[in-house]
Amino acid sequence: MGKPLVAVFSGAGMSTDSGIPDYRGPQGLWRRDPDAEKLVTYEYYMADPEIRRRSWLMRAEVWAAAPQPNAAHLAVAELERGGTPVRVITQNVDGLHQLAGMPARKVFELHGTARSVVCTGCGARSETSEVLARVAAGEPDPPCSACGGVLKTATVMFGQRLDPEVLGRAMAVAKGSQVFIAVGTSLQVQPAASLAGMAAEAGARLIIVNAEETPYDALADEVVREPIGTALPALLTRIAAEGA
Ligand code: ZN
Repeated sequence: MGKPLVAVFSGAGMSTDSGIPDYRGPQGLWRRDPDAEKLVTYEYYMADPEIRRRSWLMRAEVWAAAPQPNAAHLAVAELERGGTPVRVITQNVDGLHQLAGMPARKVFELHGTARSVVCTGCGARSETSEVLARVAAGEPDPPCSACGGVLKTATVMFGQRLDPEVLGRAMAVAKGSQVFIAVGTSLQVQPAASLAGMAAEAGARLIIVNAEETPYDALADEVVREPIGTALPALLTRIAAEGA
């Protein structure tokens, strides 16, 4: 018997041990503070230089904290290194799965990444660190060096649709997986949440690791409520042993 394809679907809860708060979820900071939500809403961001200035300062603050992968990220990367086929689908934009050692081609970032910047005019991409260096040097809303257009992180803001290619590949992973583990996500934001149902329908063993109830708990083969930082490494060790 071959090793099962394990899909790990991670949400904000995966990164809270790394010091990154839940911004985007239904109970997230951005949803509870309409003013903060504007910083990551495409329409406001594009229309207002003051929103962009504050948005870059917010990114700079997260960047300065230099968040590191936690035990859960490391356990996922270790499972992959051990020879189990693993794919990560994530709602997080922090890049911590890759920093933990997951190959980038095996990570599907549904909400994009805060580690790159894209020009809304010409599409040119650059490193977030370069743009934040310009902000620190006195350009509060740095324009694209190539075309003068508005720069934004390569994240999917509110009011923007998910990249259909990334979503399509994530759906293929969900349907092709034998084990689908949803970690630290409330499974309430569509279309991402529907991936769990898709996987279960296609016959995957569905495991949910989350502090709170999710709409997919009844469908799950296993629901784990313990803290992610200890529960996920233990679970993945068990799965690696089963598939050996
Ligand atoms: Zn440009």
